[in-house]
Amino acid sequence: SPEVKLAVFGRAGVGKSALVVRFLTKRFIWEYDPTLESTYRHQANIDDETVGMEILDTAGQEDVLQKEGHMRWGDGFILVYDITDRGSFEDVAPLKGLLDEVKRPKHVPLVLLGNKADLDHARQVATEEGERLAADMACAFYECSACADQVGTGGGVAEAFHELCREIRRR
Ligand code: GDP
Ligand code: MG
Repeated sequence: SPEVKLAVFGRAGVGKSALVVRFLTKRFIWEYDPTLESTYRHQANIDDETVGMEILDTAGQEDVLQKEGHMRWGDGFILVYDITDRGSFEDVAPLKGLLDEVKRPKHVPLVLLGNKADLDHARQVATEEGERLAADMACAFYECSACADQVGTGGGVAEAFHELCREIRRR
């Protein structure tokens, strides 16, 4: 079966580990060591095909050399920001710039994910801003919550991961 390598990027605290664990276990776990970097293996049935995945949950505080290494390793990327943290949203465009540099001249399969959509009362980034950024980057966009699959614009966290796999396999 095909194998894809996915890496999850974004500022520390945006919920990368919570999202990966939600995807893998359908559960939410409140606290992770934020300095921890882990890889997971997973199989999913996507459009009637079994897809094997290797998922790298980055710590979000790597230096540029480490980031570039992770980018070279990955086939596709989930760029995560926290809708309640404007700074985390502003971190996305530079990440995309670095990805383009590292992967050039290849097209970079991407998904943009605005996490913590359950915290709408503390929102600092409008849904339309996420949509616009995703349009600029020519990628799919989801607002999700690692706490609750019912929250947000997409079909939940799994849909974002599955869409990234599809995007990788289209290339
Ligand atoms: P990481 O540094 O990007 O891996 O972030 P973590 O997964 O460690 O999450 C950082 C903090 O945000 C933790 O306290 C999580 O419980 C919390 N968190 C993660 N995702 C969500 C979410 O969707 N909603 C809410 N309310 N909290 C979240
Ligand atoms: Mg983490």
